[in-house]
Amino acid sequence: MTGRLFIIAGCSGVGKGTLLKLFLEKNPDIKLSISATTRKPREGEVNGKNYFFISKEEFIADVNNNEFLEWAEFSGNYYGTKKSFVEKTLNKGIDLILEIEVKGAKQVKEKMPDAIGIFIMPPSVETLETRLRGRHTEDEETIKKRLLEAKREIKAGQHFDYKVINDDLDEALNNLQKIFDTERNNLC
Ligand code: 5GP
Repeated sequence: MTGRLFIIAGCSGVGKGTLLKLFLEKNPDIKLSISATTRKPREGEVNGKNYFFISKEEFIADVNNNEFLEWAEFSGNYYGTKKSFVEKTLNKGIDLILEIEVKGAKQVKEKMPDAIGIFIMPPSVETLETRLRGRHTEDEETIKKRLLEAKREIKAGQHFDYKVINDDLDEALNNLQKIFDTERNNLC
């Protein structure tokens, strides 16, 4: 049997990184896909672990070679998921999570309708702004861009199969677990 494909999206600053990290610690049999990006690494990020950090030229060559299952421009950088990695993982029967933004999520859903889309919602846009500023990883211009993207993403998030509000972390983690348990037990 092939693995299941889960798409997790949610705007910048919603806390999906923390949520996913805790979730994956509790579910070591589920794999997280590593994307390629043209964004510069943040402090502490490791090539091949957080992302494959590549140049714009390399990214465009991969697009032209049809290597991506999906790709999108987000906040001035390109991000993409390699088709071969997804196929190999699912064919081994391993469940896989793509942590991607909404334009890419839409492309995956069109190509692989059985993929399960989960959108992580912030309790409010104000909370999002506070969190985004609080992590001190982006400059003002980037924060503004990301907040604009966030409003657009929250709208698009309405069309996902599931929504999880990340207000209380434990509660969000429980809700995420319930979704995975339901979908993984659903064999049809
Ligand atoms: P960040 O720069 O904060 O790591 O990521 C910015 C956005 O890009 C996030 O919403 C993240 O989910 C998304 N993203 C990361 N990898 C991919 C990918 O492979 N494809 C797409 N479409 N979005 C991605």
